[in-house]
Amino acid sequence: MSSKIPQNLVGRIRVGSGTCPAGHSLMVEDKKFDGERAIAVKVRLAGHSGMLYLHPFYGKHEYESDVSMKKGDVIEVFCPECNVPLAIDEQCKLCNIPMFAVCLPDGGQVEACPTIGCHRHSLTIVNLDEQLDRMYVAETKIQM
Ligand SMILES: [Zn+2]
Ligand SMILES: [Zn+2]
Repeated sequence: MSSKIPQNLVGRIRVGSGTCPAGHSLMVEDKKFDGERAIAVKVRLAGHSGMLYLHPFYGKHEYESDVSMKKGDVIEVFCPECNVPLAIDEQCKLCNIPMFAVCLPDGGQVEACPTIGCHRHSLTIVNLDEQLDRMYVAETKIQM
């Protein structure tokens, strides 16, 4: 069973262990956002490749990259370890291009649009309650 995350949790769920489909960890120690390990993926844009660091809180759109990108650019996203493309079949309904995904433990995933400036994304988690216990970071639990 998988569920989409409720809107009120956006920005309060931390991705603590994202991987590529082959299981390589995408979490890095040397780049942090708000004190938490960033998600690092390899990107390619217009013939340039580099790293892209994503904020580990679901729904936060901060990022850093050594490839210069501007609004409207569409990046290709890969695992830095095995170079597998992270693109998935699901399309961004705004851009009509395939989204990319970071795999979570137990079969969930965070999906995001590879267009810079398009903030469409979603989070699919399996065993919602169990996962939320692990991922939710606010002091007070919300009522479900
Ligand atoms: Zn990999
Ligand atoms: Zn989009």
